[in-house]
Amino acid sequence: MTELPRIPLAGVIGSPIAHSRSPALHGYWLKRYGIKGHYIPMDIGQADLKEALQFLPRVGFVGLNVTIPHKETVLALADIVTDRAALIGAANTLIFRKDGKVFADNTDGSGFIANLRQEAPHWAPSAGPAVVLGAGGAARAVVAALIEVGVPEIRIANRTRARAEALRSDFGAKLVVEEWVQVGNILDDAATVVNTTALGMTGKPDLVVPLDRLPSSALVTDLVYTPLQTTFLQQAAMQGCTTVDGLGMLLHQAAPGFERWFGVRPEVDAETRAAVLAA
Ligand code: NAP
Repeated sequence: MTELPRIPLAGVIGSPIAHSRSPALHGYWLKRYGIKGHYIPMDIGQADLKEALQFLPRVGFVGLNVTIPHKETVLALADIVTDRAALIGAANTLIFRKDGKVFADNTDGSGFIANLRQEAPHWAPSAGPAVVLGAGGAARAVVAALIEVGVPEIRIANRTRARAEALRSDFGAKLVVEEWVQVGNILDDAATVVNTTALGMTGKPDLVVPLDRLPSSALVTDLVYTPLQTTFLQQAAMQGCTTVDGLGMLLHQAAPGFERWFGVRPEVDAETRAAVLAA
């Protein structure tokens, strides 16, 4: 009897997981490219993580996305960690290799840059300093990516200054730590402004920064994508700045994993955005 090929399985692990848009996104791509495969959200707690990473490859999983609270912990459980995941200190994409090894990567930074390149093709990262608001996990990926594309200086401000100082010691002299309450005063010559804080998300207070000193040539982007047009982005648009919402980053960070698991590089386009927004 000929053996039927195994249907590839992938998914996202985290806890909680119900809010994740990844199943809608990967489900859309699987359908669009006619791929026989499944992408499944799995609520896996810290205590079960190690066992899950051993068990899932045995039942046909080719890889996983990883979200809160496992992004840091999986690094210690993976066999191979890319340099960028090690530098960021977190992984969002796992590949279960045929030789049994777990490969961990972080595609948040490349997704962040790909989104800006697509939505603001004239953006020149080397044109001036970047201002990064926040110093959490997402900020680490953003800072690594901005350094890679040649931003001359990164001014970083976080409510808890010590977290910004930690980024400064990990990423080096291009980072200048600024006071959270002084952000309005460090925008004069900024070419890029990024909100990596959770402020502005539905249910959280808005990010309030006086933008009157920000040049209209600056690109302003927000990692928050619920709502798509945060108050911060609206304020920047009123200032004449080009603005880019955070949904594209989510879509672009997902593409490399999909390609590795299912063998097709998926398009990130208006249809993809619409499919995820409609879900
Ligand atoms: P995190 O590690 O928990 O960091 C949260 C950040 O928000 C910290 O800088 C924190 O400052 C700041 N913050 C939270 N509440 C605040 C408040 N009331 N006032 C001032 N600052 C506050 O989270 P994360 O993983 O970096 O994610 C941050 C945001 O990015 C979330 O909204 C997440 O959904 C979004 N994100 C989007 C994408 C995408 O694909 N678009 C990818 C990753 C993350 P403290 O250090 O002072 O607490």
